[in-house]
Amino acid sequence: MEEGKPGMESGEHWRERAACSGSEADELFAEATQQNKAKAICATCPVQTECLAEALDTGVRFGVWGGMTERERRALLRRSPHVASWRRALDAARRRAG
Ligand code: SF4
Repeated sequence: MEEGKPGMESGEHWRERAACSGSEADELFAEATQQNKAKAICATCPVQTECLAEALDTGVRFGVWGGMTERERRALLRRSPHVASWRRALDAARRRAG
């Protein structure tokens, strides 16, 4: 990670700072009626980008990850089939945003 610029946390350490850790985690894998609530939790999460990158890179099929439902992730993957690493792509986007 370049010093002084925001970047993604490496490895699995980001999970330790997840807003969904604890009793609310089950909501993130809930049915559609609960997904808005889960997305609201994600919106406050300090590791939302790391979480979304992992879900996109590993093909997680269920639940809300990184603020996106499975349907939203599928649509994003269809729109961007050329992305080999979402972790790298999202990290680069974060760095550009500064
Ligand atoms: S972005 Fe959402 S699902 Fe991912 S770690 Fe944070 S709260 Fe949990």
